[in-house]
Amino acid sequence: MTDSLDLSLVHTFRRAGQAFLFDGASGALARLGDGALADWEIYLSRAGVPDPPGLGRLAAYGLFRRPPSPSGHLPSPGLHSLCLNVSHRCNLACAYCFAGGGGYGGGPGLMTLKTARLAIDFLTANARPGRALSVDFFGGEPLLAWDVIEDTVGYAQSRVKAAAGIRFRFSLTTNGTLVDGPRAQFIARHMSTVIVSLDGRPEVHDRLRPGLGGQPSYRSAAAGARAVLAALARERRSPGPDMPSGTDALWIRGTFTKHNRDFWRDVEHLANEGFRQISLEPVLAPQGAPYALVPDDLPYLEESYAHVLDMAAAGPLRFFHFELNADRPACAAKRFGGCGAGTGYACVAPDGRVYPCHQFDGEREFAMLRLDGSTASGGPRFAGDGRFAAAHAGAKAACRGCWAQLHCGGGCHYTAWRHGGGLLDPAPLSCDLLRLRLEHALALAALRAPGPVPDRILSGPAPPDRTRD
Ligand code: SF4
Ligand code: SF4
Repeated sequence: MTDSLDLSLVHTFRRAGQAFLFDGASGALARLGDGALADWEIYLSRAGVPDPPGLGRLAAYGLFRRPPSPSGHLPSPGLHSLCLNVSHRCNLACAYCFAGGGGYGGGPGLMTLKTARLAIDFLTANARPGRALSVDFFGGEPLLAWDVIEDTVGYAQSRVKAAAGIRFRFSLTTNGTLVDGPRAQFIARHMSTVIVSLDGRPEVHDRLRPGLGGQPSYRSAAAGARAVLAALARERRSPGPDMPSGTDALWIRGTFTKHNRDFWRDVEHLANEGFRQISLEPVLAPQGAPYALVPDDLPYLEESYAHVLDMAAAGPLRFFHFELNADRPACAAKRFGGCGAGTGYACVAPDGRVYPCHQFDGEREFAMLRLDGSTASGGPRFAGDGRFAAAHAGAKAACRGCWAQLHCGGGCHYTAWRHGGGLLDPAPLSCDLLRLRLEHALALAALRAPGPVPDRILSGPAPPDRTRD
């Protein structure tokens, strides 16, 4: 029986007091009894033992059949998502900032209105007809370029009228400190998603996210997040595929470090503050940084994830990394391909240079082209970066035997390049954390899912616009 089945990506685990079998080949999840779990563990750890009970039944559901693994370059999805890094300036001085205080290793520039409009023209000229186009305002602190944000939204909307079949969804990532009433209102009216950075408990947040003068920033950041939440609650939005209703547009996004391995307390704090959608991400830090996470921290982080799972299972909390996109199976190429940086997604820096994503901004070896207005009608053609099209889970040695590959797609390119061994060589700690999160996410999906087992879950977590790793 097993000859025709691929059992190489079967993963068994226990979470939330239950036993599960996840089949990394098909993406299906089954809940197991304790006896079946023991049988499967013996089977997976030793060659030559009989088929475990239930194998035929699970196979009949479609488990253990792997889609063909792509090789070479993944087909280009066409440019559909653009980050406008409108500000290389920031009014905070976060210790762990990957953007080096907002400047990305270069000067602290702001994007001009002209460059932002060129970016919109570039996106519309390179998009496939009828495709929804995403525009994300990012920084540094993007609200330092507020006039650019307002103008760009208006300009893009005028392009919708001029070019039938195009529609935009806007998103914004902000530290929240510069949000006032009118800005919150504008955000609530126009942004499909707004991400406000808050790390959790005030003392945790203020330890690594001070203002430029060293002053605490929690109070003003939390006030900004609350202003957005209130404006979203007031705004009568028409929900649709590009516009979630009301307060569902807001995500609180924070970073946890070695200093708060008990980050579940930060999730709890944020939930008690009235925020329902929360994403806390592990810090990416240079080796030796006092706040850097190391493999010895994993048991503590596991404990935190387990607490967050209990909270998410019990109440209205949505924890970003535990929300599997269960209803929208993605095609195999997309599941293998990951985030789309450098293929369907790119970032424009204030000087008009285009990079594969916001994290690569300023890394000149990855600059793809420059928008300077010298090319007529929409600017240069976007051909993507072949290095990224080729850096998918099917191409990475480390990913080939990894049970998480269909959910992960090969991980974050920037993390691999900066903290692993290169674009094709993921960083082991980030892989351990991804698999840890995925076990919890699968368990939560099973706890929420009504009906019989096995519960089939076919696609990976969908970021609120983009995973800001
Ligand atoms: S990047 Fe890591 S977690 Fe992701 S598929 Fe590859 S080995 Fe697995
Ligand atoms: S996952 Fe990494 S490479 Fe992809 S868009 Fe996010 S930061 Fe960039």
